[in-house]
Amino acid sequence: MNTLGIYIHIPFCKRRCRYCTFLSDDETGDKERSLYVTQLRREISGKSVLYAKERVVDTIFIGGGTPTILPPCEIDDIIEAVYSRFHVANDAEVTVEANPGTVDRGYLRSIRDEGVNRISFGVQSFDEGTLARLGRVHTAGEAVDSYMAAREAGYDNVNIDLIFGLPDQGAESWNQDIRTALSLRPDHLSFYDLQLEEETPLYEDVMAGRLEALTDLEDRRMYHAAIEALTAEGYEHYEISNAALPGMRSRHNLKYWSMDDYLGFGLGAHSYMNGRRFVNTEFRDDYIKAQSSDQMVSSYYNNTRGDEMSEYVWLGLRRTDGISLSDFSTRFGEDFMNLYAHETENLIERKLLTREGDKLRLTALGLDLSNVVFREFV
Ligand code: SF4
Repeated sequence: MNTLGIYIHIPFCKRRCRYCTFLSDDETGDKERSLYVTQLRREISGKSVLYAKERVVDTIFIGGGTPTILPPCEIDDIIEAVYSRFHVANDAEVTVEANPGTVDRGYLRSIRDEGVNRISFGVQSFDEGTLARLGRVHTAGEAVDSYMAAREAGYDNVNIDLIFGLPDQGAESWNQDIRTALSLRPDHLSFYDLQLEEETPLYEDVMAGRLEALTDLEDRRMYHAAIEALTAEGYEHYEISNAALPGMRSRHNLKYWSMDDYLGFGLGAHSYMNGRRFVNTEFRDDYIKAQSSDQMVSSYYNNTRGDEMSEYVWLGLRRTDGISLSDFSTRFGEDFMNLYAHETENLIERKLLTREGDKLRLTALGLDLSNVVFREFV
């Protein structure tokens, strides 16, 4: 049977962070959130009729937003809806994103009893000043407490998200964030480069001169410092922004970079099934009023053969072990170099890509300029 990943979006937060452009709302009450969960169950049931057959679900990822704003019984309802409609593998990776300060040991234990086996904490920083500038709802102490609570609740697969490249963030502060994270020994660590988006309060702070944006050089130094520190401690840097202890890579996220099928549920959720991409409405009223899972989808797009090849290359190059040229030709029946010789040779000459036997991957410079590389294949 083919495998399938499931993503479920929970578009609610306690308070909006000052850099955030994600699809999430901080002004909803318990009643609206319950209605949303009911609609999620409807969607899971509806889509299962179309997509559950001859598929085994091997990853479930409940993300947001802040999924842990929901009570454990509603997380249970969602998971139960998936298990009752899909064939879920016994060893499926089941992740819930959690914000420190929204969970305690009891909460984490409760959702673990319901089948959750991986927690991903949106810590972002251990520096109080940075957390305040970001408008996070939690303190550094709460982040450590939540992490310890997850271990005490029995989780042996825990991720920590950190952000770097923040206005006014010094190199020492970032290095300290990495050291603190490493002292906790998470199984997985994501380190995201802040994209300063217009119309966020943080962007306005920079525009008004209240905060100073970092230079590209400072930003890149932070990135490479993180990779160096993580690999020195035995972590495998396996994707541009992700590192994990051996055997602990995110199986769910790997699906996105490997073009494996996944189904998204909830507001604005994306799906990729059998070469077709589709996305749900981003309007909560439309989602709640939809009478069927079909009505929740706002657009469908059938990838052309060219789209498939291009996505395979640029998504695959996000992984540090790169893409396999023989796998490309098995998948598409075409020789990679016949199609992309000019782009590839040019990028190798510019030291952005390197080829070793069957593998093509980003160099250290290519990691810094990955968008330049990806553009060549789009
Ligand atoms: S917790 Fe995440 S989704 Fe929610 S407001 Fe903050 S950054 Fe946005």
